[in-house]
Amino acid sequence: MEPLLKTEKLGITFNKGKPNEFVALKDVNIEIYPNEYIIFFGPSGSGKSTLLYSLLGLLKPTTGEIYIRGKAYSTFREKEKNIRTSKMFGMVFQQYNLLFSLNVFDNVILPQIFISEPARSRKEKAIVLLRRFGIEARAKQSPANLSGGQQQRVAVCRALINNPDIILADEPVGNLDSESAKIVMDTLKDINVKDKKTVVLVTHDARYLPYADRVYFFKDARIEREERMSIGGHGGPGGGAPSPVVDLERLARAHPTLSAAQLKAWSLSNWLTEELTVEQMERLEEAMEKILSGKISPHQFFESLDMPFADGGVGLYRQTAAAFARRVVHIMDEMRLYAERTKGENDPKKRAQLVSMLSFFLLEEHKGDLAPEELKRLSAAIEARIVGTLSHADFVQKLSKNPSEQGVGLAQTVADRLAERLDLIISKI
Ligand code: ADP
Ligand code: MG
Repeated sequence: MEPLLKTEKLGITFNKGKPNEFVALKDVNIEIYPNEYIIFFGPSGSGKSTLLYSLLGLLKPTTGEIYIRGKAYSTFREKEKNIRTSKMFGMVFQQYNLLFSLNVFDNVILPQIFISEPARSRKEKAIVLLRRFGIEARAKQSPANLSGGQQQRVAVCRALINNPDIILADEPVGNLDSESAKIVMDTLKDINVKDKKTVVLVTHDARYLPYADRVYFFKDARIEREERMSIGGHGGPGGGAPSPVVDLERLARAHPTLSAAQLKAWSLSNWLTEELTVEQMERLEEAMEKILSGKISPHQFFESLDMPFADGGVGLYRQTAAAFARRVVHIMDEMRLYAERTKGENDPKKRAQLVSMLSFFLLEEHKGDLAPEELKRLSAAIEARIVGTLSHADFVQKLSKNPSEQGVGLAQTVADRLAERLDLIISKI
């Protein structure tokens, strides 16, 4: 049987050729088969997360090669890589990375915006997942009201909603008490056994080793040994049809561009920020908002990511900062292309205004020409519309009313169009 994932003499060196050069992975050879449960085990700093990120295509090998279903990663085009990974992999992190401004249900269905699937079954699917993991009753609440273990189960549902082949989990129970940790670990096992998903889990905690079929032991940037933990192991049918590749044009047509693109940026930032503190996340989001609204250049964006935290930057590793900046710029280019293609459909100025307002909802950021008070009202109205407490007509009215009457003060036409666009999003998700 062909391995689902494979590396051949994979090496990753950070800051190559610089005084701070650091070899994070050396000569790594692994093979992961369909329906296996694999653990990457080893002390902190031994290269486990680095391997996980390179499997996701987020870190380019310094030496060696990575294969997905036998196809060399180096032969994928950038676009293909992004799309493949968003459909093939579901990610679960130590920090749950949920959006507190959305309710549990909306958090779970967020990744669906990246794939072209009929909208009809989506809600059903999310409910089935939430029910299965015992959190259905919390669907309408903010994740902020949930315990850590419940939040992580929401994150697992989110990782599963696109029906990926592989679940990658990086220290998913590292922040949980042992009781909640067991529930989440059992959940992941259940997904492996019942749903026949391949699970790759990173941990430094030996208590969890029995969950795996096979364990790769990491030490000093190498895989020291490999051990089979249980009999049985893999053996799923595998070889299912590869996921259909969705090109960004179709994605853009199916969803209001900026929202899709920004959600994509957001999900990329989740991939890259597993080890960031809350304060670093906040700074990263600030920088994202600035570049997306054109307040800073791509280079300034990179600099703010790279700058040490103590100096007011995000304090990312230089390579991470560069890779992240590249990806965000790439996404922005695609957004621009789309905007050009659809020019003439309506007044581009109004359109841009609308789009930035929609994006505002998604990022909860301060943007555009509105005063902070009106922005807040806009955001509240969008949220109310999304959760269904505001009708279409009331929403339009709220937006078009004067600021002196607690409105947002938008022109009637703008308010109408925004309402339409928003309803479109609601119907898609
Ligand atoms: P683990 O997940 O096993 O704890 P990681 O894979 O995160 O370890 O990191 C391995 C080593 O590589 C660590 O010493 C870490 O500091 C270093 N490292 C990780 N990412 C970068 C980077 N972008 N630049 C430089 N060093 C890095
Ligand atoms: Mg790690």
